[in-house]
Amino acid sequence: MVKANSIPRVWRERTIKYRLIGGKCKKCGKSFYPFRRICPRCGSEEIEEVHLPREGKLLYYTVIRAPPSDFEEYAPYVVGIVELKDGTRVLAQITDVVEDQLEEGVDVEAVFRKYREQGKEGIIEYGIKFRPKT
Ligand SMILES: [Zn+2]
Repeated sequence: MVKANSIPRVWRERTIKYRLIGGKCKKCGKSFYPFRRICPRCGSEEIEEVHLPREGKLLYYTVIRAPPSDFEEYAPYVVGIVELKDGTRVLAQITDVVEDQLEEGVDVEAVFRKYREQGKEGIIEYGIKFRPKT
């Protein structure tokens, strides 16, 4: 048996960040990502945290060629709507793709990736993106 404290700390933290934590409305049952305090469907504030499935299907996508100025150096990039296995729809960047080989309907999975670097301080933001399953 492996004791929890024998797992390297870096790995544990990485695992936590990898989780897709969304919100679920206790009133109408809608689940969404990212987590918000107010339900986008019914306006209820009774929201609980849920772990969403990391796999789903790419419903639609679009190639962003003229992004907001903060993201200019990353253009072109792909943004899509992913439907997770529980039906939750997520707007996210699609990564590891050759844009003209991407197809709607492919199976995708969440990965933890760099979003962008900010200015001279070099602050790097990380977040969830999706990539086609191989
Ligand atoms: Zn609701």
